Amino acid sequence: MQIRCFKCHMPIAMNREAVVDALAQVDKEELSHYDLFCPKCRTMNRVSRKQLQRAAPKVVRDEGDAK
Ligand SMILES: [Zn+2]
Repeated sequence: MQIRCFKCHMPIAMNREAVVDALAQVDKEELSHYDLFCPKCRTMNRVSRKQLQRAAPKVVRDEGDAK
């Protein structure tokens, strides 16, 4: 998936592994969003849990729904 920085509009790519890691952190800490830092301007971009779930592989998504 790709997030676009809301400040500098730089596209930030999240590969499948990054999405899974992000989703794991969100689940563990019971967050509603994941903080993704822009590598260019260091602005924190909020990626919603739903966005992550949509981008995650199906197996991970099903595990998340079961909780
Ligand atoms: Zn930025």
